[in-house]
Amino acid sequence: MTNIGIVGLGLIGGSIGLDLRTLGYRVLGVSRREETCQKAIALGAIDEASLELSLLSVADIIFICTPIAAIIPTLEQLIPFLSTTAILTDVASVKEPIVEAISPIWPNFVGGHPMAGKAESGIEVAQLGLFRDRPYVLTPIKNTPLESVQKVETIANLLKSQVYFCDPHEHDGAVAWISHLPVMVSASLIMACMNENNPNVFKLAQHLASSGFRDTSRVGGGNPKLGRMMAQYNRRQVLRSLYSFRDQVDQFIQDIEQEDWQNLEQKLRDTQENRRLFLQDN
Ligand code: NAP
Repeated sequence: MTNIGIVGLGLIGGSIGLDLRTLGYRVLGVSRREETCQKAIALGAIDEASLELSLLSVADIIFICTPIAAIIPTLEQLIPFLSTTAILTDVASVKEPIVEAISPIWPNFVGGHPMAGKAESGIEVAQLGLFRDRPYVLTPIKNTPLESVQKVETIANLLKSQVYFCDPHEHDGAVAWISHLPVMVSASLIMACMNENNPNVFKLAQHLASSGFRDTSRVGGGNPKLGRMMAQYNRRQVLRSLYSFRDQVDQFIQDIEQEDWQNLEQKLRDTQENRRLFLQDN
């Protein structure tokens, strides 16, 4: 029987545990707080829990599901306990710095990113079937053992995810556009609205806010620690996309200042069509 190890029993780690236990795997979980370990057992996300990484000495495949900043230190502490054949994988939303740091220390590492989430965090919000029909990106490099990649792919398929393979750098470029930039843009929208200094206008705007505002502000109202990690660990790509975004905003400002309504409408015509094409090719 394959033993699965999970370090970091939060939303993502707990949800992986719930699915894999349901599929008949034995799941061993390690987290930082005893209370979290007990909750994870009570929710059925894991079979056994410990605060000690030594629990994972019998694990065949280990998912590192801690916040990004804790991944590399966790791995360094974990290595002395690992069996020589253990396969490591992670779930971080940034791949290049993680793969670059871990692969030389543990070549049997397959970078991964299951692209499902929620605004809330923690084991309490872990959910069975969270990854169903969602992308699961794997970022093996040329030295990653093929057999290990296939084993992690099999698990991603069992989670009913759609598996994609790509290079870690390209992964980080793509998620900068579709995940990290939207968080910063959405957060900027919320901050700009909060700057309204007329209390009557502010209150009225609050009452009138409907689905359009809810949609565009949703990701800016998510987990702040996750947003910070995206920017910190994918700094260059996030800055690149933000500079480009700032350019676009400046162009809209220019059109409106110069009352160039034709140009503005043409831009919006292009975006209407481009949005359709971008999402249709998905
Ligand atoms: P989360 O709900 O906050 O869970 C992380 C858990 O890790 C916490 O519950 C914490 O449990 C535990 N932890 C923290 N430091 C630890 C350490 N040093 N050793 C062991 N356990 C530790 O966060 P999450 O949303 O699941 O995110 C986890 C990872 O998934 C991140 O790397 C993130 O990039 C990635 N990810 C997140 C999403 C998303 O939308 N949320 C989507 C895809 C990927 P304790 O209570 O024991 O401290």
